[in-house]
Amino acid sequence: MLTVTQALEQIRESVIPFEVSEHPLESALGLTLGEDVHSTVDSPPFDKSLMDGYAVRISDVESGSATLRVIELVTAGQVPQHTVNWGEATQIMTGAPLPAGADIVIKVEETQRQGDHVTIAANPPTANTNVIRRGTSIRTGSRVLTAGITLNAHGMGTLAELGQSMVRVRRRPRAAVLSTGDELVPVTATPERGQIRNSNGVMLTAQLEAAGAIAVNLGIARDNREDLAAKIAEGLKYDLLILSGGVSAGLLDLVPSTLAEAGVRQIFHKVEMKPGKPIWFGQRALSTTPTCNVFGLPGNPVGSLVCFELFVRTTIKRLMGAEPSNPQPLFARLEHDYSTRADRPTYHPARLTWAAEGLSVTLVPWHGSSDLCGTVSANGMVALPGEPRQFRAGDQVESFAW
Ligand code: AMP
Ligand code: MG
Repeated sequence: MLTVTQALEQIRESVIPFEVSEHPLESALGLTLGEDVHSTVDSPPFDKSLMDGYAVRISDVESGSATLRVIELVTAGQVPQHTVNWGEATQIMTGAPLPAGADIVIKVEETQRQGDHVTIAANPPTANTNVIRRGTSIRTGSRVLTAGITLNAHGMGTLAELGQSMVRVRRRPRAAVLSTGDELVPVTATPERGQIRNSNGVMLTAQLEAAGAIAVNLGIARDNREDLAAKIAEGLKYDLLILSGGVSAGLLDLVPSTLAEAGVRQIFHKVEMKPGKPIWFGQRALSTTPTCNVFGLPGNPVGSLVCFELFVRTTIKRLMGAEPSNPQPLFARLEHDYSTRADRPTYHPARLTWAAEGLSVTLVPWHGSSDLCGTVSANGMVALPGEPRQFRAGDQVESFAW
């Protein structure tokens, strides 16, 4: 059976990122850059004042005090008309271009104005006091953003600063969720004896959207080949098809064989982990490029939840070209003693919090893979080893945020 690391490696090898295309910057939040972005401009584009005050020659104010003649006022957006000569100052506002001749700005709080003269009483200034030089933050031609980063608000703001109104990114995957099981009824129905509501459909659709995909919930397929095959055929029209249930060893666990009949090639089945061991992953390819990535997640809700966070999220990131695509472990201080007797690596729902000493984590009370309610106070999970171990409060444990 594959380990989690091996399964993630197989996803990395088999999932091919989408083509890169142009996209308007304004709606690119959460998309991943497909190419490095180099600046075609200097930023700031001119030597600029960082303060409201007086632009002067540093040699005039070496001791920190001087009385200078004010020759001009320049506010942000204006262009200075005069060179600042010896004995002169230009009154300047934050964001305005530094006039020729001047090399520093004395802030207004350190000055006193009388008519067309200003008296300065400041600490002896150093080079570039209250000034930012052209190109200090970005030089023309330099790399500003790297391919593989997911655009956030400040990345988008930076692209706007550079005038990049279109960005080269990969699109979001379109994904379908298909829940399988004769026992399932829609959320709106009242279950009869032996029935349960389809909670995975809603959960997985929400997880897909949270991970950046465009998700559709296809509802429930029954545990017979005809219904399953028809609904799988519908789901294979998407970039990603997420099935839940029907992948373990039960008599009516028909998902792997029905997928095979639909031309979906198995890449792996079963991973050494708890919950989620029965997970199935495969691809359908019409030519050489995969057209649909297919997951059969275990029906037990927490198995589905955990497998999604480890494997489906990674697949979405890979399709969108995000680097890194694998789940990123966080090391957190365990808040309490805990002893495990697990025989498989276990992903235990947990609550991560930032405390004064750093990241800390508490395992939430949980009754195993069918106990979804037990996870509602969790915002992540702790990876516990697959052998008996006694943990102590204060131990650093490998955790993942959801
Ligand atoms: P299966 O993987 O089909 O053997 O299902 C394992 C367990 O998960 C069974 O107890 C199912 O009733 C339950 N289950 C399967 N699908 C869902 C679903 N969509 N929502 C909630 N529970 C489910
Ligand atoms: Mg089932």
